[in-house]
Amino acid sequence: MSEITRRDFINGTLMAAGSSMLPLEATGQAAMAALDPSYYPPARTGLRGSHPGSNDHAHSRAWAGRSDWGPTTKLSEAYDLVVVGGGLSGLAAAYFYQQKHGTDKRILILDNHDDFGGHAKRNEHTINGVTRISYGGSQTIVEPKHADKIVLNLLQDIGVDLGRFETAYDTGFFKRHDLGGVTYFNKEVFGVDKVVRHPYCNYPNYVEGLLGGKLSHEEAAQQAPLSDRGKGQLLRVLNGGLHTLTVPKEELQNYIGTHSYFDYLQDTLRVDEPGVLRMARHSGLDWGSGGTELMSIAEAKSCGALGFAPVAVYDEDNPYIHHFPDGNAGVARALVKKLIPDVAKGNNAEALVLANFDYAELDKTSNAVRLRLNSTVVNVKHGGDPRNSSEVFVNYINGDQSYQVKAGGVVMACYNMFIPHIVSGLPEEQAAALRLQEKSPLQYTTVGLTNWRAMKELGIGVAMSPGNMHQAVLMDFPVSMGGYEYTSTPDDPCVIQMISCPYGKFAAPSGEQFREARYTMLSLQFEDYEQEIRRHLGGMLPRELFDFDIDVASISVNRWAHGYTTGGPGDSTRIGRQPFGRITIANSDSAPGADAKTAMMMAHRAVNELG
Ligand SMILES: Cc1cc2nc3c(=O)[nH]c(=O)nc-3n(C[C@H](O)[C@H](O)[C@H](O)COP(=O)(O)OP(=O)(O)OC[C@H]3O[C@@H](n4cnc5c(N)ncnc54)[C@H](O)[C@@H]3O)c2cc1C
Repeated sequence: MSEITRRDFINGTLMAAGSSMLPLEATGQAAMAALDPSYYPPARTGLRGSHPGSNDHAHSRAWAGRSDWGPTTKLSEAYDLVVVGGGLSGLAAAYFYQQKHGTDKRILILDNHDDFGGHAKRNEHTINGVTRISYGGSQTIVEPKHADKIVLNLLQDIGVDLGRFETAYDTGFFKRHDLGGVTYFNKEVFGVDKVVRHPYCNYPNYVEGLLGGKLSHEEAAQQAPLSDRGKGQLLRVLNGGLHTLTVPKEELQNYIGTHSYFDYLQDTLRVDEPGVLRMARHSGLDWGSGGTELMSIAEAKSCGALGFAPVAVYDEDNPYIHHFPDGNAGVARALVKKLIPDVAKGNNAEALVLANFDYAELDKTSNAVRLRLNSTVVNVKHGGDPRNSSEVFVNYINGDQSYQVKAGGVVMACYNMFIPHIVSGLPEEQAAALRLQEKSPLQYTTVGLTNWRAMKELGIGVAMSPGNMHQAVLMDFPVSMGGYEYTSTPDDPCVIQMISCPYGKFAAPSGEQFREARYTMLSLQFEDYEQEIRRHLGGMLPRELFDFDIDVASISVNRWAHGYTTGGPGDSTRIGRQPFGRITIANSDSAPGADAKTAMMMAHRAVNELG
């Protein structure tokens, strides 16, 4: 499949490099103003997410302590506010600042990526001339009815109509096509390529409208490609064993909250077959940001790990349907449109789904709010004593050039653990607390298919894949809105989503596993992913209906080495996010909570702390 490799790799990587090499003017005219009108990162494929080059400057600062960036151009730009990080939190910070202080205030948002939105990333795949929109990270507005009024007002003000999803999300799609939760066992790990129409865990149930499993526990255990002993063990787990615990009833809750799920599997249910234990380890996927071997019985139960399905995922008032075709990138686009009205045409978020976004508008001198991409902040420093200084200097690298701008205040909406490396003079206790903040790695790979006949034939809505890098493969969410139409028949092009929650050494502490998995992730090339996807889809789907070389049109591997925030120990997150002079701290890390609503609430707090 060399054409895909070359085409996608070149489109994805070299275009990004090319844009950052555009000549910069030293007069303060920003890099973005020089952007080619064709600059449109959502259409890039290949390695996306934190794409190659996006973290290089940050890593050389954090890992090698680099502080000499060559001559710095002091731009004649002064802002009321500089926001570091253009994810949902950073964009919301700019919005709240305008709400509080007026839309004439001058704001600069800096982000190291080639696109805005942070984890809320839009992926587009053009397949046989048809463009399919998907998401490379943040999926859905989760439980919006539980949101604070502050978030609901923001969503309303930027034109997000939550009620619209009730019809835009086609809950009947999976039933019409007989698509449900299945499990793909691969030959490499399980000895044979086999699809069983049973998910063995609750994970697929978060997809609204997906059909439930059709097999009984006995049939599901019998069909799993395991030894007879393994099948017996799997059946014991599926049938559940909490009632066999010799614990007084009134102590059960405490017991399951304090005892390990894996001890329960191994000691109480006497499971020792590697295949069953592997299924169990991967059955929580990203619900716990790590393998289930680190979970208590109660945690495994609440996320519906092997032996605990089904469990209720979301309540009736909050179905998992609040999903733009590009996931929460739809929210990011609506925020950007609110801040920089000329970027696109459209009166509400729905109208923006297909609107043309002109990236050259993002960083115009005439804008009150400017959004500057490909710009990594490497130093943030008060002009004087932080206790009474009225100005902050922000240094960033764009291309390989160092620039400085001045601001009356700064909101750090970037990864919190990076803040001690760039904010000068932070109190040591605060810096130490920030260094303890963790994020788990995650990977969302979107694959453009010319058709989905093979998925239909096997009844695959979601395929759990405990033997593969991507532990779940799913049909994209069936959402049509703003003139965008979701794939309608199995002969039409579509995007499938492949989700990987990479783990490290079995049973190692989560932080160690995150680090190991992150290094492994970053050491892989696009070709490695392509081979893995070829093996995965080629092994899972029937040969007569699926030919990778013909049916796969494009691949975007969205690698988030710094994905879900998992916070830090004890009170460290609260200590870490304290205001420091004219610098305050946002991002979902500062809650911590890997959730869009939380990211916005943290922005609101950080803006208020600036006064
Ligand atoms: C794969 C994935 C799926 C998710 N799915 C959901 C979901 O369905 N629903 C949900 O509510 N949440 C989801 N989340 C959680 C998500 O993290 C939050 O919802 C939210 O998008 C976080 O926004 P943020 O602005 O706080 O952080 P981010 O989105 O991480 O934005 C921070 C930005 O700051 C940039 N930055 C960092 N350092 C610097 C620097 N030195 N200079 C300049 N810029 C810098 C980063 O690169 C990034 O672009 C998901 C997360 C991931 C990774």
